[in-house]
Amino acid sequence: MILKSLEVSSFATNCYIIGSETSRQGIIIDPGDEAERILKEVRDSDLDIKIIILTHGHSDHTAALKEVKAETAAPIAIHTEDVSTLKQKLLGVFMGAGFKSPPPPDRLLNDGDVVSISGFELTVIHTPGHSRGSICLLGDGVLFSGDTLFNGSIGRSDLPGSGGNHEQLIESIRNRLLVLDDAIKVYPGHGPDTTIGAERRGNPFLV
Ligand SMILES: [Zn+2]
Ligand SMILES: [Zn+2]
Repeated sequence: MILKSLEVSSFATNCYIIGSETSRQGIIIDPGDEAERILKEVRDSDLDIKIIILTHGHSDHTAALKEVKAETAAPIAIHTEDVSTLKQKLLGVFMGAGFKSPPPPDRLLNDGDVVSISGFELTVIHTPGHSRGSICLLGDGVLFSGDTLFNGSIGRSDLPGSGGNHEQLIESIRNRLLVLDDAIKVYPGHGPDTTIGAERRGNPFLV
């Protein structure tokens, strides 16, 4: 599997570009800003992007959607319950003039859905708490955890207009993520990667 991580936007969001070495098909997760950098990485990796998946609808994960979609012609996928978060411009206000209204989603995801391209697939795990429709994406030995679980930390649940809920967030992490294999590599929406085992043992918000 090809896996590229780009830190974009003033929020230091991790945008992931993943793909199959054999089919050269790829997926972009959370194009948070700096479309040109993301698109250059896609071209340099020689990938044909088949879908853009949002772990949730906050602007720091979506600001480059319009340009990335325009160049790749890939459909945008988001959990059903975060379409409203995608539409709200509140975080855009903090991002200033650089904020662009995101295009509407093309595919709505629900828990258990499988997004597949030639070469691999990702399973959707609905993990509400950071926002109503936050999801994590589970692949072969890897988990893209959005703003639900970070290395040594967890997502905020106090962002307005997204239906955040702290108890629900903890429940999502405990019941849906910490039950996964310890060896699974976790690639979060911000900050360095980690593993399920390391977070289960050492995350101060979960012990
Ligand atoms: Zn967020
Ligand atoms: Zn974020």
